[in-house]
Amino acid sequence: MTPPTTTGAARAITNVDERPVLRERGQREVFCGLTGIVWMHRKIQDAFFLVVGSRTCAHLIQSAAGVMIFAEPRFATAIIGERDLAGLADANEELDREVGKLLARRPDIKLLFLVGSCPSEVIKLDLSRAAERLSRQFMPDVRVLNYSGSGIETTFTQGEDACLASLVPELPRAAGDARSLLVVGALADIVEDQFRQTFADLGIDNVDFLPPRLSTELPSVGPGTRYLLAQPFLTDTSQALENNGATRLSAPFPFGEEGTTAWLRAAADAWDVPERHFNAVTRPGRDRAKKAMERYRERLAGRRIFFFPDSQLEVPLARFLSREMGMELTEVGTPYLHKEHLERELPLLPAGVCVSEGQDVDRQIDRCFAAEPDIVVCGLGLANPFEAAGVTTKWSIELLFTPIHGYEQAADCAELFARPLSRREALAI
Ligand code: SF4
Repeated sequence: MTPPTTTGAARAITNVDERPVLRERGQREVFCGLTGIVWMHRKIQDAFFLVVGSRTCAHLIQSAAGVMIFAEPRFATAIIGERDLAGLADANEELDREVGKLLARRPDIKLLFLVGSCPSEVIKLDLSRAAERLSRQFMPDVRVLNYSGSGIETTFTQGEDACLASLVPELPRAAGDARSLLVVGALADIVEDQFRQTFADLGIDNVDFLPPRLSTELPSVGPGTRYLLAQPFLTDTSQALENNGATRLSAPFPFGEEGTTAWLRAAADAWDVPERHFNAVTRPGRDRAKKAMERYRERLAGRRIFFFPDSQLEVPLARFLSREMGMELTEVGTPYLHKEHLERELPLLPAGVCVSEGQDVDRQIDRCFAAEPDIVVCGLGLANPFEAAGVTTKWSIELLFTPIHGYEQAADCAELFARPLSRREALAI
């Protein structure tokens, strides 16, 4: 484990809706926003992510995403060399040349993201101007956008937020005030199809998803747009949508039977779907989810769980695990606590549970050992040393790679936490 320092650490306890929140500002252990490319490149099928960074950045995404041998990859790193860092070469000229070569070779690319990194920020390479310049050159065939995935600015799920926020200005303006529903946040295609079907059964048929599967199918947004967040980490994207006139539907997040029902209900209420019809449509899914989760509840009930701050999914997942799986929460850490987006989640956490925002990793590790949890949810950097110390862990990044939203995935979500406990027990026999 990298020895953490506590230089500059600060802490405070404040109240969020009457709930005390421990706020810490110290050494943190999180992935950077480049990691989001791993799931975003699978979602937007005609997009390409070009990281403008170092060999470290290339290493990170390649090892996180695995090396694709049989398919043309949809991400790459333009490596900033020592000459660029020393200001001896014109990085813009090199970037234009590399983009030109890439687009000449890959006519399937319709949307190119230039993704900033720590090195590109350090040399102050202006990627927004580069994106404008390259867009002018390659439009209408290819749209070029930019966002930052730098570890100086972002934790790993903020990469998705920054990516989606960069797309919002490109969304067409909706004609008139006709109502439409926009589901915001990358979901596995199968989950998207399930939700689309449920909304159709409820009578809500003007439904779009952001991000779309193809960049040529951008949803339109306007004052009639009501949007539901599928992920809790989309702060900048939400702000950008609201600047375009869209209105957020306040809801818990669609994890577990309870969260999924409340999330669907928020849309149903906005569309005045009668309660009887809502119950008739959702009842089969609710029953299936409850039945499938039973076996995991048996394994998880009464087990103690500690969340380190990493994915920003911590609060909704803690709610699901405590209320539907009967787990005992020791600490729920999150990198950022968005009060409005979590307004329907926080009241559902048990009274007295420690909610923390930010990190001072030394102190948090001490609290974790003192709490003696059965399982710890954390990033890879902490997971290996914890496992070596005999502590069972769940890698938080798996929560992004695995479909866990909605009724049909509720049991899979529970299984992600049950599996490491079963493995540890099997090894102990
Ligand atoms: S963006 Fe920064 S933190 Fe992320 S891999 Fe590159 S150098 Fe490391």
